[in-house]
Amino acid sequence: MIDEIPLSKPDITDAEINEVTRVLRSDRLSIGPVLESFERAVADRVGTTHGVGVSSGTAGLHLALLGLGVGPGDEVITTPFSFIASTNCILYVGAKPIFVDIDPKSLNMDPSFVEAAITPKTKAILAVEAFGDPTHMEAYRSIAARHEIPLIEDSCEGLGGEGSGRNIGAFGRVGVFGFYPNKQITTGEGGMIVTDDDRLADLCRSMRNHGRPVNSNSDRSKHDPPPGGCGAAWLSHERLGYNYRMHELSAAMGVAQMSRLDEILHKRRKVAEHYTRRLMGEHRLTLPNVNDTERMSWFVYVVRLTSEFSSEERDRIMSGMRRHDIGVADYFPCIHLQPHIREAFGHDRGDFPIAESVSNRTIALPFHTNLGEREIDLVSQTLELMLAREGLRGT
Ligand SMILES: *Cc1c(COP(=O)(O)O)cnc(C)c1O
Repeated sequence: MIDEIPLSKPDITDAEINEVTRVLRSDRLSIGPVLESFERAVADRVGTTHGVGVSSGTAGLHLALLGLGVGPGDEVITTPFSFIASTNCILYVGAKPIFVDIDPKSLNMDPSFVEAAITPKTKAILAVEAFGDPTHMEAYRSIAARHEIPLIEDSCEGLGGEGSGRNIGAFGRVGVFGFYPNKQITTGEGGMIVTDDDRLADLCRSMRNHGRPVNSNSDRSKHDPPPGGCGAAWLSHERLGYNYRMHELSAAMGVAQMSRLDEILHKRRKVAEHYTRRLMGEHRLTLPNVNDTERMSWFVYVVRLTSEFSSEERDRIMSGMRRHDIGVADYFPCIHLQPHIREAFGHDRGDFPIAESVSNRTIALPFHTNLGEREIDLVSQTLELMLAREGLRGT
């Protein structure tokens, strides 16, 4: 079934189609000049020295942890309220995720819980800007600095946002963006590591490409295969590597999307503002947090039912919305309660009550760059109808 109003939708114009076509007509489909342009565009926007394009946000997080030497026996402090990849990458390197509960307003980790969770085994703090909100990033940054451990920023939901005078992605020793089709900008599949750390950037460049050598002081393309054959360094492997490369077709989409980023962010902000205006008077909902001092990047529009609603009622409301061909989602089920994590680390319901309470009552509404006011009105009206129905059931 195709949702009449989908949960999300990419914003692809002739600009993206033309860039991709140009690559298709060239002979260079991987590790070429377009990837370098895309890396430059993202790094310049974020304000970091390096951008390293990879095949997904998850691949980028994996390399960031490997590059910082996180491994077995290490602990990484992170949030239970996120998309699963922010914890899975900790498991990939054999480290232990130490979850801390969230602040119910921003939905990001409560800084005091982060501080309290630090032990001699803590190797990093892995923070996420939930739904694009940079609240507390500066606090994590100073906690990490005080304890001399790196802050890893999973910025996959926050491209273009800023807070405390810094861009999302530039708070940590390393930041990672994701470009799956539901993100602010997309490359189909893709991700980008951003950092000021030369050594870390080189390590990530090498590891994304089978551990091949990278000479950061000269033209990188010397080490890449010429279009028809094998460069001298092509079969030399200095370390364990992966194939986490981003191809030129994805990078071409990325270049076009980056050139439109301000327009995209502006439109998304307008969509969010219209939802807020439309739903402001609905006392059964908590609307997304908008902190005046932070410029959030709108990834999704997630409303929360007030605490008198149960998760079953939330699920019924979502089913009702879907029956009206409106795409909705329960962003996010708690990570510590996902089967593989729950079993491995002995977590249970009640471990992180704030995250669980929030997670039981969220509804992500349809949200994308080109969502129209009529559609927003229809979604809002349907949501109000479903809320009223639940109200009647209870009486
Ligand atoms: C989207 C996302 C990712 C990365 O997703 P990929 O599908 O691997 O690109 C990682 N962390 C968070 C919090 C995300 O929202």
